[in-house]
Amino acid sequence: MTGRHSSNSDTPMGVGGQRGGAADVPSPLVDEFASRLRGQLIRSGDPGYESARRLWNGVIDRRPALVARCDGDEDVVAAVNFARDNKLLLAVRGGGHGVAGHALCDGGLVIDLSEMTRVDVDPEACTVRAQGGCTLGDLDRETQRHGLATPMGVVSATGIAGLTLSGGMGWLRRKYGLSCDNLVSAKVVTADGNLLAVSASENEDLFWAIRGGGGNFGVVTSFEYRLHPVGPEVFFCNVYYPANRAREVLQSCERYVSGAPDQVGPLGVLGQVPETEEFPPESHGEPYVALLALFPGNPAEGERALQPLREVTEPICDLSGATTYTEAQKVLDDDYPDGGRYYWTSVNAPGLSDELIERLAEHAAAAPSPDSTIDVWYQGGAMAQVGEEETAFANRSASYLLGIEGNWEEETDSAENVTWVRDTFADLRSFSAGGIYLNFPGFLEEGEQLLREGYGGNYERLSAVKVKYDPANLFHLNANIKPKS
Ligand SMILES: Cc1cc2nc3c(=O)[nH]c(=O)nc-3n(C[C@H](O)[C@H](O)[C@H](O)COP(=O)(O)OP(=O)(O)OC[C@H]3O[C@@H](n4cnc5c(N)ncnc54)[C@H](O)[C@@H]3O)c2cc1C
Repeated sequence: MTGRHSSNSDTPMGVGGQRGGAADVPSPLVDEFASRLRGQLIRSGDPGYESARRLWNGVIDRRPALVARCDGDEDVVAAVNFARDNKLLLAVRGGGHGVAGHALCDGGLVIDLSEMTRVDVDPEACTVRAQGGCTLGDLDRETQRHGLATPMGVVSATGIAGLTLSGGMGWLRRKYGLSCDNLVSAKVVTADGNLLAVSASENEDLFWAIRGGGGNFGVVTSFEYRLHPVGPEVFFCNVYYPANRAREVLQSCERYVSGAPDQVGPLGVLGQVPETEEFPPESHGEPYVALLALFPGNPAEGERALQPLREVTEPICDLSGATTYTEAQKVLDDDYPDGGRYYWTSVNAPGLSDELIERLAEHAAAAPSPDSTIDVWYQGGAMAQVGEEETAFANRSASYLLGIEGNWEEETDSAENVTWVRDTFADLRSFSAGGIYLNFPGFLEEGEQLLREGYGGNYERLSAVKVKYDPANLFHLNANIKPKS
C-alpha cells in the first residue's frame, strides 16, 4: 500500500468535535451495548475479528475497535446512538465492496450489515424489499424466481447499499435506469437515532438525498425497489476484438446505441488478453477491446438484436450466448477476487473522438498489471430521462463514463499501478467536460473539487439536507458532504 493510495482519511472532517477510538469508552458501557444487540459485537482480539475487518479491497488495512454485526433495525439504532453518544468514529458497511474502503475505520465503530440479507418480493405489486447487507446476488436470486429484476451493477458480490446510494449502473441502465431511480422507499436510521421511512410522500427531502448522495444521511436498513420483467433467459454479448481495431469497434457500438432502442446498455472494455483457455494462445497478453451487453428479453430476439456488436471485425474470441439473467450477472465475478488490490476512478466524457479512443487503447496496453482495464460505459437511455435535479445523482447527461480500474495482486506492485491510474486519469480528464462517478471514487481525499464534480449542481441542496439530518457530520466516512453552515 502506498501512502497516496491509503489516504482516505479517517479524520473527522465535519463539525461536532473530535471523534476517535473506543479506548476511552468504559468497558461496562461497551458490555451494556453488546448486551442490547441481537447481533454480535466483535471487539479487537475476539475470534472472528480479523475476518470482520477484512474488505474486498486487499489494500485496505484498518483496525476498528468495535464491529457491531447488526441483526435488525433496532440494532442499527442502538449502534448509531452508541457511536454518537461516545463520540466514536463511525463507519458503515453494506456489501464491503466500496473501493476506497470507507466501510472500515481505525479505532471507532463499524456498523456492519452483512448479516442483514433478507429479501421479500411482492410479485403482484412488482416490488422487492431488501435489507441493507444484501449483495446483488442475494437480490437477483429472489427476484428471478418470479422472472423479475431491478437494475443493479455487473458483479454479483457487490453490495446493493453502497451501489444504490451513489447511483447504481448495470446492464439495465438504459432500459430501466439506475438502481437509485428504481427506489420506491427505504428505512433510514439518522444521526439522532430515529428510524425514518422515506419515499416520495414521506421525508421527501431525505428520499431525494439518498438517491445519489451516498452514505451521508444515515444508515439505510432496507431498500424497496420497483421490479421489471427480465429473463430468466437472456442473451449476453461478450466479444473480444484486437485493440488495434478499437476505433472501429467503439464507434460502431456508438452508432449501434444511437440507432437502437434503449433495450441495451453496452460496456466497452480495453485490457490485455488473459492467459486462459477460452482465448487462443497467440492472443495471450495482447491488448483487446471487448463489447459486453445484455439483452433482457427473449434470447432468440436478443441474439438478433446484439448481432451487430459481434461482427464489427474478426474477433479474437466470442464468448456470447444464451444464459440466465443470474448467470449473466456473474460473468465478471472472477475478475474481482476478494483480497486483490484495487484502485479505481472515472471520468465522464461527452463523446468518443478518434483521439480519445487512441489514448484509451494506449493507456490500457501500458497498464503494468494485465488485470487492469479501462471501461467505456455507454450511458443515456432511461438514466438520462430522469431530470438532473429529480434525484441527487448528477451528471446524467454525459454520454460516456470512462472507468479506470487498477487491479493487481502484490503489494510490491502498488506504486506503479496507482501511478498508472493517476496518470491515465490526468490524461483522460482533458477529454472530459467534468464529472466523475462517486461509486468509483478515486482521489476524493485530495480535496473537494472532484467530490463537488461528482455531486454536480446538487451539492448545495445536499448540504442543506445534511444540516437537517446530520448537522454534526456523524456520517463522514464517505464522499463527504459538509453540512451547510
Ligand atoms: C467488483 C465491483 C464491481 C462493481 N460494479 C459496479 C457496477 O457495475 N455498477 C456500479 O454502479 N458500481 C459498481 N461498483 C461500485 C460499487 O457500487 C461501490 O463500490 C459501492 O460502494 C459498493 O457498495 P457496498 O455496499 O458493497 O460497499 P461498502 O464498502 O459496504 O459501502 C460503501 C459505502 O457506502 C455507504 N454505505 C454502505 N452501506 C450503507 C447503508 N446500509 N446505509 C448507508 N450507507 C451505507 C458507506 O458510506 C460505505 O462506506 C463495483 C464495485 C466493485 C468492487
